[in-house]
Formats: sequence, structure tokens, C-alpha cells
Amino acid sequence: MMGGKNEIKEILGGIDAGKVLYDEPMSLHASLAVGGKADAMVFIENENQLVAVIRRLKENKKKYFAAGNLTNVIVKDSGYRGAILLMNGLKEVSCEKTNDDGGLIFAQAGARLAEVIELSAAEGFTGLEFCSGIPGSVGGAIWMNAGAYGREIKDVLEEVYILDATCNGKTIKRKEISFRYRKTDFAESTIVLSAKFKLKRGNQLKIKERINEILQWRQEKHPLDFPSAGSIFKNLPGQPAGKLIEERGLKGMTVGGAQVSLKHANFIVNSGKAKASDILNLIKLVQSKVEKETGVNLETEVVIIGED
Ligand SMILES: Cc1cc2nc3c(=O)[nH]c(=O)nc-3n(C[C@H](O)[C@H](O)[C@H](O)COP(=O)(O)OP(=O)(O)OC[C@H]3O[C@@H](n4cnc5c(N)ncnc54)[C@H](O)[C@@H]3O)c2cc1C
Repeated sequence: MMGGKNEIKEILGGIDAGKVLYDEPMSLHASLAVGGKADAMVFIENENQLVAVIRRLKENKKKYFAAGNLTNVIVKDSGYRGAILLMNGLKEVSCEKTNDDGGLIFAQAGARLAEVIELSAAEGFTGLEFCSGIPGSVGGAIWMNAGAYGREIKDVLEEVYILDATCNGKTIKRKEISFRYRKTDFAESTIVLSAKFKLKRGNQLKIKERINEILQWRQEKHPLDFPSAGSIFKNLPGQPAGKLIEERGLKGMTVGGAQVSLKHANFIVNSGKAKASDILNLIKLVQSKVEKETGVNLETEVVIIGED
């Protein structure tokens, strides 16, 4: 019986799936630099190709996973039996002025947040500065309701264009979506294709200053010299996860090549040759130590997928 790479190769071989890498190590693509092989990694270039690929995978009962920039995902070492759909080819970004002297930024799911921020700053629109330094894509930021400095992506979102479970395109207004802390209530199979962000007219110099201030702050506080996925655990109301971990004296704790960052306790970094299992075991260790001493159950912010 065929399985894994060969089976998915035959399934996708029947259509024009664009660029596909088979048996591709996710450690080469994830910001944590860990992760086993996906049977296939499809580089999505346009909506038609995406729909054809998804239909084909569904007909053949194969799993798929939409990925942006893989800055918040851990694929287990045993890999992913299915296709990782990388949205990076959907990268259009544009800006239009609105009648109220504001701006609407249109961005496709695979566009980097950094590019969207750059365009809004260049046009003198304010609202997205808080996202500076978040290394994800537009799709990932919406899916995760990414946030920083007391603001979240929902605060600037106007509408989202999605592909639903039956591969129909649909525009959803912000007020129809319920957002939570690092989470949206989209159905599991929803794929974000693009979004519009509503921004206000601002002072270009001040916008650029704020962006630089945030980038500098991140450089000082975050362990940016090592591969990571940003914050590993969700904060609790009034209780930053990093503080709870640091107060237990867990900074610097290691499992294999995974380490609780010495710079910021809510970051787990790959200090060398970590495997996904090192990161996952360190997560469990931190969770159990924090729970034992404080009764608090730390929930992961990072998305974990793959085979056991
Ligand atoms: C150094 C560093 C700093 C960070 N700082 C922050 C921070 O301040 N605030 C914060 O919120 N996060 C932060 N992060 C985490 C991460 O960058 C964000 O969660 C980001 O929004 C993830 O985007 P991504 O494109 O990498 O998504 P991925 O990691 O690829 O995916 C994350 C989730 O989104 C889903 N997804 C991605 N694209 C789509 C799509 N088009 N349609 C449907 N689902 C999709 C995936 O299926 C997955 O469930 C940080 C990460 C790093 C490495």
C-alpha cells in the first residue's frame, strides 16, 4: 500500500498544483528551526490553484494545514501526514484613501505584516504600528488575533475575505467575527485569503518614530539572536506568563537543545540542535513546575501539529 510522500505526489500530480516540495523538513521553514517532514509543502500562488489543491486533497481524504510564515507553529518530529499550504505567493498589498481622510489597506494573506506596516507608514496612516516586529503574515496575524502593547489585530480590521469549508469565497465584516485572546472563531477549515485594515490619518514622522521605538524595545527585551516562536504561553489576566516562569527560577532551564530564554522567560529558544520533542518536553516541564507551585495552568500560544 502506498502512503505518505508517494501517495500525495500521485494525488497532486493530477492537477496543476504549482511548486510542491515532497518530504520537506519543516525545520527548514519554521522560525523555531524544528519540525519533522511534511508529506508535501505546496507554495500557493493564487486562489484558483489553492481551490484546486484543496478539492483534490479533500476528495482523497488527505489533511492540509494553512501556513503563513510558520512563526507560531511547531510540527512534531514525526512530521505531518498531509500537505502544508504555504500562502506566501498571495502577497499583494495596496492602499486607498477613504472619504473621512482615513485609509484602507488591502493585503493578501501571505503578505508579511512588516510590508503592510511599511506601506501604511509611507502613506501616513496610523493604527498598525503595534504590529511592528511581529514576524508573521497577514493570514497568521488574523487567525491568531496577533497583538502587542494592549492592541490586537481585531482593532484595525475592517473585513476579511475567506475560503469556507466548501471552497466558496466569502467576505466577512469584522463585527461578524468573534475574537478572543490570540484566537478567532473561524471554523477549522476556513482559509484567510485577504483582509482590509481601516486606519486613520496620522503624522508620518510620529508613526515612523513609534515603529522604531517598538523595534528597539523588542531588540532589547526579546532573544532575537536565537530561533523562537515568540511567546510560547498565553498570558493570564494581570499575570504575564513570563513573570510566573521567571519567579519560579526557570530561566535558562534546558531540555536537549531547547532553553527557556535567559532574556525573556516566556520565550523558548532553539539554542543549537533542538528537536521539536525538546521544545515540547521543555513546555511540559515548565507547565508542571508552574502548576505545582502556583496552581496556574499555562496554556500554549504556539500551535502544535503533526503525528505522535
Ligand atoms: C520573535 C517573535 C516575536 C513575536 N511576537 C509576537 C507578538 O508580539 N504578538 C503576537 O501576537 N505574536 C507574536 N509572535 C508570534 C507570531 O509571529 C504570530 O502569532 C503571527 O501572527 C503568526 O503568523 P504566521 O504567518 O507566522 O502564522 P503561522 O505560524 O504560519 O500560523 C499560525 C496559525 O495561523 C494559521 N494560519 C496562518 N495563515 C493562515 C491563513 N491564510 N488562513 C487560515 N489560517 C492561517 C495557521 O494554520 C496556524 O494555526 C512572535 C513570533 C516571533 C518568532
